[in-house]
Order: sequence, then structure tokens, then C-alpha cells
Amino acid sequence: MLYASTRGGCATVTSAQAILAGIAPDGGLFVPTHEDCLGEAEINSLLKMSYQQRAAFILKRFLADFSAEEIAACVEQAYHVPKFASPAIAPLKVISERLAVLELWHGPTSAFKDMALQMLPRLLVTSARKEGDGSDYAILVATSGDTGKAALEGFKDVTKTRILVFYPKHGVSEIQRLQMVTQEGSNVGVVAVEGNFDDTQNGVKTIFNDQEFKLQLSQASFKLSSANSINWGRLVPQVVYYFSAYADLVTTGKIRLGDQINFVVPTGNFGNILAGYYAKTLGLPVRKLICASNRNNVLTDFIQTGVYDRNRPFNKTISPSMDILISSNLERLLYHLSDRDAVRVSSWMRALQEEGKYQVDRETKEKVQELFWSDFCQDNETMDTIKQVYQSYGYVLDPHTAVAWNVYQKYVQVTGDQTLSVIVSTASPFKFNASVVQAILGAAALEGKTEFELLDLLASETGLVVPEGLNNLAEKEVRHTKSCARDEMLGAVREFLGL
Ligand SMILES: *Cc1c(COP(=O)(O)O)cnc(C)c1O
Repeated sequence: MLYASTRGGCATVTSAQAILAGIAPDGGLFVPTHEDCLGEAEINSLLKMSYQQRAAFILKRFLADFSAEEIAACVEQAYHVPKFASPAIAPLKVISERLAVLELWHGPTSAFKDMALQMLPRLLVTSARKEGDGSDYAILVATSGDTGKAALEGFKDVTKTRILVFYPKHGVSEIQRLQMVTQEGSNVGVVAVEGNFDDTQNGVKTIFNDQEFKLQLSQASFKLSSANSINWGRLVPQVVYYFSAYADLVTTGKIRLGDQINFVVPTGNFGNILAGYYAKTLGLPVRKLICASNRNNVLTDFIQTGVYDRNRPFNKTISPSMDILISSNLERLLYHLSDRDAVRVSSWMRALQEEGKYQVDRETKEKVQELFWSDFCQDNETMDTIKQVYQSYGYVLDPHTAVAWNVYQKYVQVTGDQTLSVIVSTASPFKFNASVVQAILGAAALEGKTEFELLDLLASETGLVVPEGLNNLAEKEVRHTKSCARDEMLGAVREFLGL
């Protein structure tokens, strides 16, 4: 299988080349040039497999230029116990006859980004071995919290790579900060930036566009790369868990092979739910993909009206990983649904760049609505949902997953659809413990408590075990104490790489 740019401005490449490049040279995103489709017998063959075997099977369909041995090695290094706290890797919890939750947060950083970021570094290094010129890779990341830690864990001690993460000094939670500054590994660096997330992200973008620095890097045999969610190597591992959830439902007798199911996905950058779309095109019997947003409901409006308009206030919510107004991966969906019309996609993306807004034609809008259903919820609804689900089912939701649950309830109310639905759960409740404790026990329970005391309180209230990576943070050695001004970020990169 080969890959083309959504903007049509460059030649097709292999999957290894797409993963090494990250973004296409014309500014577009890499997408598969044709559709593959599994038959029922092939989906049936997944039932008896482990998560790792399912991953190898699905990845092979997309990474045609990788050998079976290369894929098996990547999978083995990415998904294993004790790195993942559950041997199932992505366990499915059945809630009722019509509802199940797919838990994607048993990895080292307790959020679903691990599913992709444990795999991406292995895919990148393997791709470099196949297609690279012998350079080492310098990974630069700007993070508002979750991605930075997941990328550090993923790239930790991966040969031929160095990773430097910048975070806004006062823009991350205490737990997120401690997760990063205690990071172990011989090839990692973490720097606090005196500024907010936008400053941090702009600083990294400026470094990526600095031609003089790039020249200096290439003389030192380094290539710059990023770990952000538009890289095909981050998207493709996410297709696996949609199949895995389906296989688990068949194995446990909840559905029969061939039955359709829904997935409900709490969405920000449109990466996770787009992987669900690719699973459907690969033959998974999916009825609806339900796109759940928080108050930053730009995707809800798009799916309901065909107009994407980012000209609106940015809201800080209690589901911060979904506080996004530009959902980059949507470009891939538009390419497929417009019958690979790169000219139209380019004009929409130009309009987004210039006016912050575009409108798709009626036919494309109808195709979007056939596949997707969308709604959003406010923070108070998120809190109510956490409380109500805990009281009704004894199940503890993090705020992102609670957004999905709330939108699922709206979906059933509006459509009456009784199809079995899987809520895709993207974070451990412990990762966002203050909101969860407040929802379950009331605001007074928070008073005077540190984040670590809240972890223990949540554990004793719910009987759940605090994830290893969060529990021992207070005792861990702080290894990264550097901070810099906004205009000193390039200097920090040079120092880190010894240039
Ligand atoms: C990143 C993230 C999301 C959003 O995922 P996208 O792929 O960007 O749509 C949702 N929940 C959590 C906890 C996340 O970290």
C-alpha cells in the first residue's frame, strides 16, 4: 500500500517514507492510496488472537513495506506487561446489554496517547533503517500536558533518537509537571518555558522553520521530527483497538460476527475517531461513529451543518485534552469523502488558514452525516455524568470519557438507536482526580488537599488502585530543572543536542 498527500502536490511514498516525513512536503497529510478490506473469515481469525497478534495483523495491512518480523518486533516492544498494567492492553468492560467501555489508559502515562506513542518511536526507527540516510532523529515536542509525557515514555532509550519536550511553566497540572521532570532515560530532555502553551508551541514551530538551524543539524547528522498526531505512524496503531474491541464482544457472546456496533469517541484533534473510520473502511461492521465534543464544539457544528468555523472563543474546560479548535486530522476524512479530490481539500484548507472557516458541498456533508453523529456537553453535564454513572454502575469515568458517555445518552434519546455501543475511554480517572473527586464527593472534599492526597482519597472511595506511574511520583528524583525564556528555546535545543 502506498501513501499520497491530501493536497495532491507530491509523489506517492511508502509507509516508511510517510512515517519519516510526518507531514507531506506540500503541507498535506499522508493517506493510503487505496482501500483494503478484510473478509469475515479474516475478522474471525482475530478472535483467538492476543492484542499483540491483532496489532501485528492490522498493522501489516497498512504497512505493506514492513516485513512481518519488523512489525512483530515493534509490537512486542510497544505493548507488554508491566509497561501496560493490563495483559489485555486495551481491556473491554461490559456495562450492560447495550453498552461497553474500551479502556485505553492502562499504559505508562495513564492516557490513551500511549496506545500510539508507544508504537510511533519503533515505527520511526524501523522506517529510518529501511529508508533513512543514517541520521539520528531529534524529536521536539510542545505540550500542554498529556502528549509530552507520553512521547517521553515512548522515545525513552530508543536508539538513534533524542527527545526534548517543552512545556509552559505555569500551564500544566502539578501531576503532569512531576510526570515530566522525573522522566528517566538517556536520550530525554524536558524544559519549562516562561510563557503559555501558545508561546511554547510557536517556539517549536519557529525552530522547525529555521533553515540555518536545519543545515547545522544535517551537518551533525540529525533530522528534526515531531511526535504530533498527524504522523501516519501515530494514527495506524489506533485502528487496532477498534478491531480488538469488536473481537472481544464476539468472543464474550455479546454480539455475533457480522453484527454492527457503534463507537462513541471523545474527540479533540480527530485522530482517535478517524482511526475508527479507517477500521470501518477496512471492513469492521460499524454502524455509527459518535463524535463527542466539550464546549469547544467546532466538530459538532461541522458534522451537523457542513460548516467548519474556528472563529469562536476558546474555552478552557475540565476535559482539557479536547480543548482544540483546529482538528488537523479532519483533513484526511475530507480527502476520502470527496473521492480523493485534492484540489477541493486544498481550497478548504486554504480557506481555514485565511478565514478560519470553510463549508463543504452538500454531497460531502451527507457522506459525513451517514458515518458520524455528533453532539457536545458542558462542564456541568460532564460532572453530573461522572456522578450519575458512578452511582448507577459503580464505574468511575474521567472527564473526557464522561463527555462521551453524556453524548451517547443524547444520541440514544434523539435517535432511539439500541445498537450495542462502545464508549472509547481515553484517560484513567486518577489522571484528572480533582474533577472526579469533586463530581463524586462534592467540592468540599477537595479543600486543603494536595493532588497526591486526592489520589489516595479517590482510591479509598472507589476501591480502585492508583496507577503505578502516578502513585510513586512524589518520591521520584527530579531530573529536569531547566527553564528558559520564549526566545531561548533554540539555544536549549542546541545545548541538548551538543551543537
Ligand atoms: C488527546 C486526548 C483526546 C483527544 O483525542 P484526539 O485523537 O485528539 O481526538 C481525548 N482524551 C484524552 C484523555 C486525550 O489525551
